[in-house]
Amino acid sequence: MGPPSCSPVAALLDLLFPRTCGGCGAGPPDSGGWCPACAESTAGPWSVAVPGAGRVAVAGRYRGPLRRAVLAYKERGRRDLAADLAGLLVPPVAVVLPAVAGRAPDRIRLVPVPSRPAAARARGGDHVLRLCRALEPRLTAAGLPARTATLLALGRRARDSVGLDGAARAANLSVALRPANRGREAGPGEPVVLVDDVVTTGATLRACRQALRALGCEPIGSVLLADATTHHRSR
Ligand SMILES: [Zn+2]
Repeated sequence: MGPPSCSPVAALLDLLFPRTCGGCGAGPPDSGGWCPACAESTAGPWSVAVPGAGRVAVAGRYRGPLRRAVLAYKERGRRDLAADLAGLLVPPVAVVLPAVAGRAPDRIRLVPVPSRPAAARARGGDHVLRLCRALEPRLTAAGLPARTATLLALGRRARDSVGLDGAARAANLSVALRPANRGREAGPGEPVVLVDDVVTTGATLRACRQALRALGCEPIGSVLLADATTHHRSR
C-alpha cells in the first residue's frame, strides 16, 4: 500500500498522473503501485545460496513484473514504488531471522548496500536507503522494531560495476567501501540485516559483510528484492 493522498495537492497529482502498477502497467491499482496479480506472480520468499555471503533471502526471481518494478523504481523515477517494494522485503527478513542464537532478535538494524554517489545523484537519491526507510515501519508494525543505519558508503573511487566480472566487482568494492559515521548508528551486538535490490554474483554482499565485520558488526543475513543468480534453490 502506498502513502495516502493526504493533501489536496497530492489528491490533484493522483488525478493528473494516476499511478500504474510498477509490474504490469495496469492501473491505477487500488493498493499503491503493485497490483494483486503481480503480487500473486512473485513466488518468494526463498533462500539463495551465495557462497561467503551468509543467509540470503529474496522476494522473487529477477524477471517479469518484479524485474520491471525494480527497474521502474531504480532507473525510471518511480519512487512511489518504495513502499510496495519494501513490503515485499518483509517475508525475506523473516527467512533470515532465526539465525541468531536459536531465537529471533527483538529488534534489528537495516544496513543499505551503498550506491555510488554519482549514481545516487543521477537517480535523485539512494534508492536502497529509501527502501530501508520504507521497510522500517512495516517491520515495526509486524512486531520487529527496525531502524536504518547507513554504516557503509562508497567513495569516489568506486567504478560502475556494469561489465565487471565477479572478481573485478569484489576488487572494485573493497577499495571503495568505507565505514560511514564510524558505525555509531548501531549499538554493540545489535543484529544487522543487509538490504539491496538485486543479487547477481554475490560479490557486493561479500564485500559489504567484510566491511561490516571490520566495524564489529556481524550481519545476520541479507535481504534483496530479486534473485538474478544463475544458481538458485527454491525455499
Ligand atoms: Zn501489476
